Amino acid sequence: MSLRRLALAVVLSLLLPCSLTARAAETRAERAANLYASQELAAAPLHSNLPDYSLSPEDLAKSQHLSAVHVTMHFIDEAWSIISLLLLLSFGVIAWMRDKAVKVSSNRWAQGYVFLLLYLIAGFLLSLPLDLYSQHLSLKYGLSVQSWASWFGDQAKAFALTWIIGGLLLMLLFWSIRKLPRSWWLAFWGASIPIVLFGIFAAPYIEPLFFHYEPLQKTNPALVEQLEKVVEKDHMNIPPERMFLMKASAKLTTLNADVEGFGASKRVVVWDTTIAKMKPDEIVFVFSHESGHYVLNHIVLGILFTLFILLVSLYVGYVFVQWAIAKFGTRWGVPSQNDWAALAVLLLAFSLFGALLEPVENTFSRHDEHTADIYGQEAIHGLVADPQATAKGAFDVLGKTSFADPNPSPLYEFWTYGHPSIGRRTAFAKAYDPWAPGMEPKYFKK
Ligand SMILES: [Zn+2]
Repeated sequence: MSLRRLALAVVLSLLLPCSLTARAAETRAERAANLYASQELAAAPLHSNLPDYSLSPEDLAKSQHLSAVHVTMHFIDEAWSIISLLLLLSFGVIAWMRDKAVKVSSNRWAQGYVFLLLYLIAGFLLSLPLDLYSQHLSLKYGLSVQSWASWFGDQAKAFALTWIIGGLLLMLLFWSIRKLPRSWWLAFWGASIPIVLFGIFAAPYIEPLFFHYEPLQKTNPALVEQLEKVVEKDHMNIPPERMFLMKASAKLTTLNADVEGFGASKRVVVWDTTIAKMKPDEIVFVFSHESGHYVLNHIVLGILFTLFILLVSLYVGYVFVQWAIAKFGTRWGVPSQNDWAALAVLLLAFSLFGALLEPVENTFSRHDEHTADIYGQEAIHGLVADPQATAKGAFDVLGKTSFADPNPSPLYEFWTYGHPSIGRRTAFAKAYDPWAPGMEPKYFKK
């Protein structure tokens, strides 16, 4: 019975994003440009240059190496997170951590925080080799300029944040398990809704721990003036005070811009590396893409999607914990779900289920990114001379600064890419012209 319910939950969680991604019908101009892009990608060999996005022979070699390493590391990392948890459980390390925590104090808060501390230390050490290699690679290819001291400092800050906030969640989880042994997954989910909302709201106030922020108006007043033209055009009401410059160049060489927070904390953040490397028109396009996320309600949809995934994950986790403890509990030294060590069993379920959910989440994200690209390109119509060339130019800079693979394997793109590949975006941008005779724009009617 529970297995059938589990299967139903899994199928539902896979279907909902599919129905959400179909929420806006494809326009004729969009269909034509999508077709143009997919034909261009299909005609070129994998990992090689495209007519609309090409790297120098030297950079192409770098991109091919990086792409191969990323594919391998991605799946090793995912498998390792599952295998290492199984090893920790099988060798009794998790049970040992629980014993230590329980010995420290009879106070549940002290026990929970000590157990989580030991667990996080083990997790940090087990993932350290891969993390070190990944940072080494970023330095070698010039994608990062961060010193090792600063890198370890960031790791320490992230660790402390996870411990403090994770400890509160852990206490709430075990309180729910104790009070509602059969429906804690639902209770914990309900309680986590305001926590998720607060987390998204508070994220912009946590990020300054890692990067320096300045009002964009202070550093780039001319740019703010340009951006306000976009804001006025799509009535999204982001005052200049909500635009920030992030000093990414202290640590990174890659480019980005994003929308963060919601309600009173909602803001647009542009990295200084973007401003240094892109032409003003291209930055206006990047900003328009970001404002698209804002106007098309991607933040709200993203929150709903996250909450839905969380609900299914918790239910799957609940069923898995009952099954795993009945079957392996004695061997692992985890007597019941009401034991600190059961956290590792629940996280094992999340790792397994998360690996399956990855393509679903990424398909959802790629769809939003694609519509934001369309929105961005339509928003700059009339503000820049040639919206197609501007968008294409922006993607070109974006791709070249990170040695993005021009033509990745479609399966790898489907499974792991949160954005369409840069080659696909560039080709789409070049071909997308909703202002041509017989075509209709998707968001800004003629
Ligand atoms: Zn985006």
